[in-house]
Amino acid sequence: SKDNGRGCWTPYDPQMDIEREERHQLELDLRTAIQSGEITVVYQPVVNANSFEIVSVEALARWNRKGHGPVAPDVFIPIAEASGLIDELGICVLHHACRQMHDWPDLRLSVNISPGQFRDPAFVGHVETVFRETGMDPRRVVLEMTETYFIHSPERAAQALKRLRRLGVRIALDDFGAGFSSVGYLRQFGFDRMKIDRSMVTALDGGPKAVEMLQATVALARSLDIPVTAEGVETEAQAVALRLAGCDELQGYLFGRPCEPAEIDRLRCRGQVP
Ligand code: C2E
Ligand code: CA
Ligand code: CA
Ligand code: CA
Repeated sequence: SKDNGRGCWTPYDPQMDIEREERHQLELDLRTAIQSGEITVVYQPVVNANSFEIVSVEALARWNRKGHGPVAPDVFIPIAEASGLIDELGICVLHHACRQMHDWPDLRLSVNISPGQFRDPAFVGHVETVFRETGMDPRRVVLEMTETYFIHSPERAAQALKRLRRLGVRIALDDFGAGFSSVGYLRQFGFDRMKIDRSMVTALDGGPKAVEMLQATVALARSLDIPVTAEGVETEAQAVALRLAGCDELQGYLFGRPCEPAEIDRLRCRGQVP
């Protein structure tokens, strides 16, 4: 039996042991995967909202687990975060992506950074090393972060941001509208870009209230001179509404799914997408 934390005892549940066992195995496999180069990176195009030309790519981690098949990032990223593997995983993704960007000298690169990485005092040094080893110009790089760490440790977050900025990288506030994101953070921490979460984009299909909310949000960002990318754009109607609201960049299945570098090459040859 197990103490459920409120002083009550719940009956023994064998399923919970199995889940714990599976999770542990997943963690062990993930550790091996990172060390043996099994983690790969796919790239999703980000287009200019007016010309539909590719201006940037977002690097997204992928794991094809040996003997099991692909594991979703929403599953393995939280495991990496909880087990302390995220530092290594994150730097591995950044390294892959920076090397790949040699093929696309005119594009910017976005990479997701977990709060746990940002908390690590060695993080900025690791990032600097990747740039040096790959010859990447930091000014082409945008690190995407959610508000979590900024809420909990605003002072330390501001310090770390300052050190990153000194390298020349830019910082985007990711998943805006998905959590407790407030436009106040944009100004307080001086973010360089805002990323509207897919949930806000999907909500546009629900009617004029969501459109008004989006317009107000984008207008506030723009009043601070902060450019806005919308993610999860799947339909023409969403793209039009987002462009009219003032988003300058769009990302979503309408323009391209996360894909292998060769697919980005093909899209670039065609010029505009879709
Ligand atoms: P995110 O940063 O919000 O990334 C966007 C997610 O939305 C990606 O899911 C992408 O494939 C998906 N997406 C893009 N356009 C569309 C669309 O039009 N429709 C729909 N339904 N989905 C769309 P993905 O690749 O599964 O990644 C999920 C999350 O995992 C990411 O959310 C990010 O938070 C995290 N993640 C992925 N790679 C990394 C990484 O290298 N490091 C860290 N720290 N987190 C990562
Ligand atoms: Ca992101
Ligand atoms: Ca998101
Ligand atoms: Ca995210």
